[in-house]
Amino acid sequence: MTVPSVFDTHCHLQKKYYDDVDAVVARARGAGVCGMVTIGSAGSVAIAEEAVALAESHADVWATVGFHPHEAAAVGRSELEAIESLATHERVVAVGEIGLDYYYDRSPRDRQREAFASFVDIARRVGKPVVIHNRESDRDCMDMFHTERIGDVGGVVHCFTSSWELARTALDNGMFLGFTGIVTFKRSEEVRDVLRRTPHDRVVVETDSPYLAPVPFRGKQNEPAWVAHVVPFVADALGLSVSATAELTTANARRLYRLG
Ligand SMILES: [Zn+2]
Ligand SMILES: [Zn+2]
Repeated sequence: MTVPSVFDTHCHLQKKYYDDVDAVVARARGAGVCGMVTIGSAGSVAIAEEAVALAESHADVWATVGFHPHEAAAVGRSELEAIESLATHERVVAVGEIGLDYYYDRSPRDRQREAFASFVDIARRVGKPVVIHNRESDRDCMDMFHTERIGDVGGVVHCFTSSWELARTALDNGMFLGFTGIVTFKRSEEVRDVLRRTPHDRVVVETDSPYLAPVPFRGKQNEPAWVAHVVPFVADALGLSVSATAELTTANARRLYRLG
């Protein structure tokens, strides 16, 4: 069976989650994954450094660097300086994930907005796109898109689960939308509806590993190899074949992360 090549635009390949990260990367290759972007964004600069090191040692893995909105309260001047310096690394393709999460509210909302703005400034200075995380914060996220002129930097709203209004605002700013295993879940009609309305050239796929394993692996620890299971659902929503969807989303991923 020929496996169409697929690009996992968002995964967290950390030793904290996987005993053997190299084996996870190898399984992804075996499943036809031609590229992976590991997200070096949690609550410390060390996580960003771990992502960069992984990208340095694998030709088909690239990294992002940033601080997750959950950890926005931990972002100070020295963290911003360290992330900006890492962001200039040739294997770093974006700043993120950054953004807002008012579902968990793990950091005060004003600190989340402040960190968001600072990281967009960094992206602007280093000339790279951003990876946006948004959960239950649509209104403020759209406001930030305007005030921070997100269209200048571009990027992706990852793990899309928000309203069509937010999707349209992101699309109007030239951004991509990232779809995870959530599109394979029965009750995700709203997300599939957004997907159906999204221009084909703005759709990318992701696993968000180790979370959100797609059907039929729901509940298990996710890994990039399973991004192939997201593709048929995306294909169905877009009215394309599976192989055309794999090809399309891979080309989109390469454009998003400017991989030439
Ligand atoms: Zn996220
Ligand atoms: Zn993530």
